[in-house]
Amino acid sequence: MPQYRIERLDFIPSGRRCNFCSRPLTSRVAYVLRDEKGNECLSGPTCLSTHARIDKSKEIYPNFAKACKGEIGDHKDVKAATKREGAAKPKAEGHLEIEYLVLRFRQLGNLPGMKIKTLEEAYHRYVKTGQITDDDRLHISRLIAKVSKERPEYSPKNLTACYAYMHWIKAALEDLHEDKQAFLRQMLFSLMKNLYLSPAQAAAVNKWFVKIEGAPVLDPEAFVPKQRSTA
Ligand SMILES: [Zn+2]
Repeated sequence: MPQYRIERLDFIPSGRRCNFCSRPLTSRVAYVLRDEKGNECLSGPTCLSTHARIDKSKEIYPNFAKACKGEIGDHKDVKAATKREGAAKPKAEGHLEIEYLVLRFRQLGNLPGMKIKTLEEAYHRYVKTGQITDDDRLHISRLIAKVSKERPEYSPKNLTACYAYMHWIKAALEDLHEDKQAFLRQMLFSLMKNLYLSPAQAAAVNKWFVKIEGAPVLDPEAFVPKQRSTA
C-alpha cells in the first residue's frame, strides 16, 4: 500500500473526483496528496483517513482554502465530515511560514511584488525538500509580522482572501456568457491590482458564486484594507 503525505488543502477545478472512491468532489476543495513516487492525487476528508490512512491532526500542510466560510464537504456525508474537520487543527512549527511562502510564490506568484528576492532561496529549498530551515522560518515569521503591521494587504489573511476570491471569480467566469462578464472581470482586475475588494464589492461578487456548483459563500469582510498614510 503506497504511503501518502498531504501536500496541501486547496481549491480544485470543477469535475474532479476523489482518487480513492471516485466520487465527485462537489465541494471543489480537496486534500492534494503525493505518494512516494511523487504522483499527485486528490482526496476528500473521509477517504483521507480511511483509504490514504493519514491522521491529519499529525500532519503539517498549507491550507489555501481558508477564506471559505463553510467547512469542506466530502461526497454525501458532509455533516459528519465537517464535524471532524472542525476538531483537529494542525499547529506544528513552520506550518504558517510554509503556507505564506507558497502563497506568495506559487498561488499568487503571477501578481506583481509577490516573489520577493529575499525569499527565493527559501522557496527553492522548500520545492526541493518539502521543508524550510529554522533560519527561513525565522525570516518568514519576521516578514509576516512586518507586513501585517506596515503593509496589511500582504498579510497572510489578506493574501488568503485574494487567492480564494480570484479562484472563484475565475470559476464563475468560465460558465458565464461573454456579455455578462464585465462586472466580474472588473472585480478580478481590481483585486489583482489592489489586493483588495471592499465589503460591498465582495458581497456583490459572492452573488455570482451562487450559480456555481460547490462554490462557497466567502466572507465579504475577508480583506484587510491598505493603511492610509496620514499625510
Ligand atoms: Zn473519496
